[in-house]
Amino acid sequence: MTQETGGFAALGLNPNILAALTAVGYEEPSPIQAQAIPVILSGQDMIGQAQTGTGKTAAFALPILSKIDPAKREPQALILAPTRELALQVATAFETYSKQMPGLNVVAVYGGAPMGPQLKAIRQGAQVIVATPGRLVDHLRRDEKVLSTIQYLVLDEADEMLKLGFMDDLEVIFEAMPASRQSVLFSATLPHSIRAIAEKHLREPQHIKIASKTQTVTAIEQAHLMVHADQKHAAVLRLLEVEDFDALIGFVRTKQATLDLAAALEAKGYKAAALNGDIAQNQRERVIDSLKDGRLDIVIATDVAARGLDVPRITHVMNVDMPYDPESYVHRIGRTGRAGRTGRALLLVTPRERRMLQVIERVTGQKVGEVKLPNSQQVLDARIKKLTNSLAPLVADAEASHGDLLDRLTADIGCSPRALAAALLRKATNGQALTLAEVERDQPLVPGSGAARPRGDRPERSDRPERDGPRERRAPLPLAEGRARCRTALGARDGIAAKNLLGAILNEGGLARDDIGRIQVRESFSLVELPEDGLDRLLGKLKDTRVGGKPLKLRRYRED
Ligand code: AMP
Repeated sequence: MTQETGGFAALGLNPNILAALTAVGYEEPSPIQAQAIPVILSGQDMIGQAQTGTGKTAAFALPILSKIDPAKREPQALILAPTRELALQVATAFETYSKQMPGLNVVAVYGGAPMGPQLKAIRQGAQVIVATPGRLVDHLRRDEKVLSTIQYLVLDEADEMLKLGFMDDLEVIFEAMPASRQSVLFSATLPHSIRAIAEKHLREPQHIKIASKTQTVTAIEQAHLMVHADQKHAAVLRLLEVEDFDALIGFVRTKQATLDLAAALEAKGYKAAALNGDIAQNQRERVIDSLKDGRLDIVIATDVAARGLDVPRITHVMNVDMPYDPESYVHRIGRTGRAGRTGRALLLVTPRERRMLQVIERVTGQKVGEVKLPNSQQVLDARIKKLTNSLAPLVADAEASHGDLLDRLTADIGCSPRALAAALLRKATNGQALTLAEVERDQPLVPGSGAARPRGDRPERSDRPERDGPRERRAPLPLAEGRARCRTALGARDGIAAKNLLGAILNEGGLARDDIGRIQVRESFSLVELPEDGLDRLLGKLKDTRVGGKPLKLRRYRED
């Protein structure tokens, strides 16, 4: 076990949970986790003031899983979430953290899906129920005993639940659980209505809040970019094209993410390396020295690994994953703007993390303006500018040194100086896309699914409360004409990245890169867009394909 997972070990979590954390690559508890986990483990009721992005899900999931008895096949923990989307996310988180707990089952209960299988999973002994209030009340109407064995209750995003009008449902649910249960409430804000619930249904709750001192940030130009989680790599690659950086440090949350992103950058020709808590001290020093002297230009690090890193060459900090709190943000971006120089800090924000952005702005007292993802024209202009800058200094004396050679070569080949110059450029630029059409073809971002999505459109929260109008479904992203969506049960938790799926399908399916559309890797499954034409034949070809040692088993995916 690494010394960093020790940060979790010191909190008193069950060894099986610690093993799962090592597997997902968390290095240390986030501030809300460090505070909440001991309180929940001790059995006290708790109110946690925290928003998405602080690590709040693990803050309650880890201690609750530590306390559950998997041998008892009855519901022990109930997590209430305002939306189907969040319920699914929380259920996935519980599944991830309970990987090493045989016999532990989680059921997600939400509207828009048949009730039968949900009830069956509960009756078969799922110990954790993650539910939206409306659907859970429907279940209670059928079987008022469903919640009679609950020992741990969590209200996640309680303020959102009230905003969505779930107050009455919550009352029904409270009544159906044993009074002796432990209750935990998480909410980004604590309006009067939330305090009233806490007063009535929680017993002497302990309050937990991450203290946010006002922080000052100077000499650093800050900007944020809205992006979807599965488009982050592509967004980073595009930003790097247009950002004029000397050295850059990118921050991510897990060890695996340092490795994945550093590998993606290296593959594009950047001098990049990963820095995480697993990397031995001497290797770490080598990486930092290389960044100092220019053998490396980019380091992708976790917060833990970047501690104490001081490299004056760093002009850019990229927050690829959101920091857990404003302090950590300020700390991260302080890696640039050293020694009186100006620096630039970029922050990638997924739709669910907008609130965290507001908190950062409030605490730092500064607006973090929005930048848009550079379009293909901007990428092309930046490439040509770089080429111009690299060639311009050579022109002055090149004619004196190589002019005669040029004359001879044009005569020997029988071509114009323009033709020869063009051939030399092709060689010098080594296949790089330098026309608009080529740049467009190269860009992995799918139009309309990246940061270019208009504001106000909340794709990750497309999940309405279940009784708001027709029973909701997560709105599928529109499919391009002639494409079909396919699903595999391999996902991020199997260590799969989009490039692994792409590689396998290209190699074994005999497709061209352009035939494959968007690839979305989720925690426990992935979706791939493939040509409708010849799909059955293709799936046949891929029948025995394995990715990362596991069977791909790609199937046509129907949204219903
Ligand atoms: P949440 O605030 O619960 O929505 O969590 C935000 C993201 O942080 C999720 O993707 C988690 O997987 C990730 N996360 C939570 N805790 C940690 C941790 N201690 N180390 C690394 N990543 C974490």
